[in-house]
Amino acid sequence: MRLDPTRVLVTGGAGFIGSTLCDRLLRDGCQVVCADNFSTGREANIAHLRAAPGFQLITADVVEPLEIPGPIHEIFHLASPASPVDYQRLPLETLRVGSAGTDHVLALARAKNARFLLASTSEVYGDPLEHPQPESYLGNVNTVGPRSVYDEAKRYAEALTVAYHRAYGTDVAIARIFNTFGPRMRLDDGRVVPSFIAQALAGRPFSINGTGKQTRSLCYVDDMVDALLSLMRSPHRGPVNLGSTDEMAVLDIAGLIADQTGNPLRFVYAPLGQDDPEKRRPDTRLAHRLLGWSPAVGIPEGLARTINWFRTDLGSFR
Ligand code: NAD
Repeated sequence: MRLDPTRVLVTGGAGFIGSTLCDRLLRDGCQVVCADNFSTGREANIAHLRAAPGFQLITADVVEPLEIPGPIHEIFHLASPASPVDYQRLPLETLRVGSAGTDHVLALARAKNARFLLASTSEVYGDPLEHPQPESYLGNVNTVGPRSVYDEAKRYAEALTVAYHRAYGTDVAIARIFNTFGPRMRLDDGRVVPSFIAQALAGRPFSINGTGKQTRSLCYVDDMVDALLSLMRSPHRGPVNLGSTDEMAVLDIAGLIADQTGNPLRFVYAPLGQDDPEKRRPDTRLAHRLLGWSPAVGIPEGLARTINWFRTDLGSFR
């Protein structure tokens, strides 16, 4: 048993999920090293932690080799553009962080004898032909489509993670994260929840791509952080799907946000993006069986907390 505090590296720790994870790790008594290049994350997400004992920020691009003096016991590798708007704006950066970046962070895990958790994604399933998606489903990815830079970067990162385990015995885990939402998302990141909230708070109609009947399963960020911690502290390697099984049509998500903000339910329609998945819902039985995890916060409650955050805290985040 270790007596010194657990020292944890979070790559992408200034992002939406990463900063929420840093908060939680510090609350749990860990020391946290946050490495981020701020390509899609924000200083404001971690400003409140800068003076916290046990918190260290390293401004670094993990595409370059990463050196961190001292012990590291756990690594959460979250660094990557994550929203379609971001990764289509940063296509080569996305491929590089999934490939060279993941290689460098895995090399660090190997050198430090740390447990490594990869934040992978439901996008490894592409536009799925099997529904809901179990971990055994091998995916339907268009290798040259507009989402391929992200999907293939993550698929490569998964392969690399498993290769480090097979070649060097590195202790690894792979989390396949499905749509997650909550405070600290950027209003302009193009994902459905912040886009609808931005439109609702500005009194504008909701913009719907396609018919709006395409579904999303939305998991509140605190639940996702619980799941990532459970997987890290378990002996399992995964891949493990993490997300909500509460599947909703995009039109219904707009309806909930309309109700909660008082914005009238009006729509403007645009074509569905190429390769936009029609259906998205994880089979989370493995997470439930291995980790005893399932989300605790329902979508209406999570949306209420998120809308409240955007209303009250957004000013300091612009
Ligand atoms: P985010 O964009 O808010 O956070 C990503 C962070 O990584 C940002 O702070 C960014 O600046 C940083 N980063 C990017 N490239 C980097 C590099 N080369 N070096 C150092 N830092 C770098 O996104 P998020 O939603 O918090 O996603 C976090 C992770 O979870 C990502 O790996 C993403 O692929 C994965 N994920 C998220 C979701 C979701 O619904 N939010 C779903 C599936 C997977």
